[in-house]
Amino acid sequence: SSFSNLSLAEPLARAVAEMGYESMTPIQEQAIPVVLTGQDVMGAAQTGTGKTAAFSLPLLQRLLKHESSSTSPARHPVRALVLLPTRELADQVAQQVALYAKYTKLRSTVVFGGMDMKPQTLELKKGVEILVATPGRLLDHIEAKNAVLNQVEYVVLDEADRMLDIGFLPDLQRILSYLPKQRTTLLFSATFSPEIKRLAGSYLQNPVTIEV
Ligand code: AMP
Repeated sequence: SSFSNLSLAEPLARAVAEMGYESMTPIQEQAIPVVLTGQDVMGAAQTGTGKTAAFSLPLLQRLLKHESSSTSPARHPVRALVLLPTRELADQVAQQVALYAKYTKLRSTVVFGGMDMKPQTLELKKGVEILVATPGRLLDHIEAKNAVLNQVEYVVLDEADRMLDIGFLPDLQRILSYLPKQRTTLLFSATFSPEIKRLAGSYLQNPVTIEV
């Protein structure tokens, strides 16, 4: 079915129209209505299925519709965190998020390893509502106090099986320990292995399972 049935906020609908998307992909059909409700999601989906839009569009919609309840002085606290296993994937997702958010005032950036910390630090200090990151470099920025995650409302563990394969579990556990307990957690993985189920059991609350 079509994106116009979703009653997305005008700036998001405009961005989607500009992308030329005609109908939703199966993961979008299933995930977008659930993410719009703010429930936790455990989704089985590979790259290339339209997964990025499936979580980004409803998250952006919620960020637009619900003002940050933050009382912190930060003008643009990080409200949504998206974690990915590799710099390539992080870069791709960040580019898509930026396209969907281009007509909103929401800011986003990406941090990943193998690059100078400084330009990333400058972007983080300016303030972003949406932060896309790989786990190791994010921890570096947390420890350097460049990234403050105590106002995060949404976290996406994307390509979670690959993050575990790479050995990011300890990093993920540490990152998640910095986030508010009351939040929405979305986990996407190609497979629901016992390790993924254990991760979900520890960090998701009554997740809606989506398989396409
Ligand atoms: P992803 O699986 O998120 O990496 O997306 C794969 C590609 O599909 C990206 O280039 C998107 O721009 C594109 N895409 C996402 N949703 C749609 C859609 N509903 N219709 C057509 N293309 C889409």
